[in-house]
Amino acid sequence: MRVAIVGGGIAGLAAAYELEKSRAAGTQVEYTLYEERARLGGSLASEIVGGAVLERGPDSFLTEKPAAAELCRELGLGSELIPSNDAARKTYIVVRNRLVAIPDGLMFMVPTKLVPTALTRLFGLRTKIRMGLELLDPPRSSGGDESVAALVRRHFGQEAVDRLVDPLLSGIYGGDAEQLSAQTVLPRMVEMETKYGSLTRGMLAAHKRMRAMTKDSSKTRKGGAAIFTALRGGMSQLVDALVARIDGAGLLKGTPVAAIGKTAGGWVLDAGQKHEQYDTLIIAAPAWAAGSLLAPVDANLGTELCGIPYSSSITVNLVYDEAKIGALPEGFGFLVPAVEGRAMLACTFVHRKFLGRTPPGKAVFRAFLGGMNGEALLAESDETLVDTVRREMAAILGAKVFSAAIEPEHVQVTRWRRAMAQYAVGHKERMTRIGERVKALPGLRLVGNAYDGIGVPDCIRLGRQAARELVLERASTTAVR
Ligand SMILES: Cc1cc2nc3c(=O)[nH]c(=O)nc-3n(C[C@H](O)[C@H](O)[C@H](O)COP(=O)(O)OP(=O)(O)OC[C@H]3O[C@@H](n4cnc5c(N)ncnc54)[C@H](O)[C@@H]3O)c2cc1C
Repeated sequence: MRVAIVGGGIAGLAAAYELEKSRAAGTQVEYTLYEERARLGGSLASEIVGGAVLERGPDSFLTEKPAAAELCRELGLGSELIPSNDAARKTYIVVRNRLVAIPDGLMFMVPTKLVPTALTRLFGLRTKIRMGLELLDPPRSSGGDESVAALVRRHFGQEAVDRLVDPLLSGIYGGDAEQLSAQTVLPRMVEMETKYGSLTRGMLAAHKRMRAMTKDSSKTRKGGAAIFTALRGGMSQLVDALVARIDGAGLLKGTPVAAIGKTAGGWVLDAGQKHEQYDTLIIAAPAWAAGSLLAPVDANLGTELCGIPYSSSITVNLVYDEAKIGALPEGFGFLVPAVEGRAMLACTFVHRKFLGRTPPGKAVFRAFLGGMNGEALLAESDETLVDTVRREMAAILGAKVFSAAIEPEHVQVTRWRRAMAQYAVGHKERMTRIGERVKALPGLRLVGNAYDGIGVPDCIRLGRQAARELVLERASTTAVR
């Protein structure tokens, strides 16, 4: 079987790795991965500068999603996995230029503890009263998909959307709460609303169940796992380890696929001078790229794929001599709600989040800009972006802690154009329609962050699964013949 993979981000590399494993196990499979850029890894891109690990894209993955750590262990990187420094985990939200800690007891954006919610400066009195009364909300049957903002607004009011949900979602998804699908992004909350009415009551019930389960499992497992897991030397360690296992002859860098055609027996790809036939095809490029490549094969599929919105973002890493800045507030960093009117969406205190990735005496800040409402920022120069971040950090952290006049020792700016898929209202239905059309095109798989999870573990899971399915399908059709 000849397989083409379009896109050498983590999803495409995971697929190639799985095919390589099948090949090594004796399956007759050949693969070629086409990557437009001169380097592999897509959004995964780390650099080590003066002993500090600087991440241009993702810095870690959620520990509760096992696919990434499993793959790292399989590749011999088990001893390189490090947990987030959860003992120091505290995140702030900027409220009128001041940092307010996210109140204790917040679960998936739902307040579950009375005293911290009553005392927080994050919300005004009206919102707090509304949060208390929310406990009385009756069960409500789902009337179809709606935005995350609409769901939360109905329960806790607009201030909860502006001050909590918007910064959490723009910080995590680079997304807009008014557009993201409640059904896809917060499926548990939608279920809770149907069952309990009140989201707070639903969360408390879930918490009770979880505690009972943890009590049981604590007999066999001591201590909780950290929320995030990273690689000591950066996410590129994973890319390098994958590339080392994949047959180099099958990796074509700097080779964008320009056109895809369907033949009676499979697929044909055009990439520069190359014109090749394949039995099966895995597209691991962003959905907008997959959509324009597939439109000549199936116009409806092309339209559906191009209809998946994407956001762009910018990361700015700043390395400082720690002695030159004041005492930072404890914690991992802060999120900036859109209502604050700033360019920054979030800032991570990198040296605090993961220990041992920054040399002693250095402080590393990683600012995020852009998101669904910040496309225009991409056109700004690096200098302007760095100045903006330094100015905003000084205003937010205060003159005693941070001054825009202090020169960073190193700056690094990365623009990510249309890199993050947005699961907008109706995403689930769109996925059903896409699934039906893909089914009608034998030997085709679509993988990547646009479909069933935006994080690194989801992309790995989908990439590997697609490769396994194609190998199995081929084996069963050959057996039937
Ligand atoms: C700034 C940032 C921070 C993030 N932080 C985290 C985090 O901390 N944790 C986490 O889990 N996730 C995070 N994510 C999300 C996660 O990194 C991505 O969702 C994931 O890496 C996407 O992988 P992918 O393989 O689907 O796509 P990509 O990485 O986008 O790879 C797609 C590849 O396809 C190539 N391509 C496109 N068109 C063609 C063509 N015609 N021919 C050949 N090649 C083509 C592209 O050049 C690219 O290399 C972050 C993302 C960004 C941008």
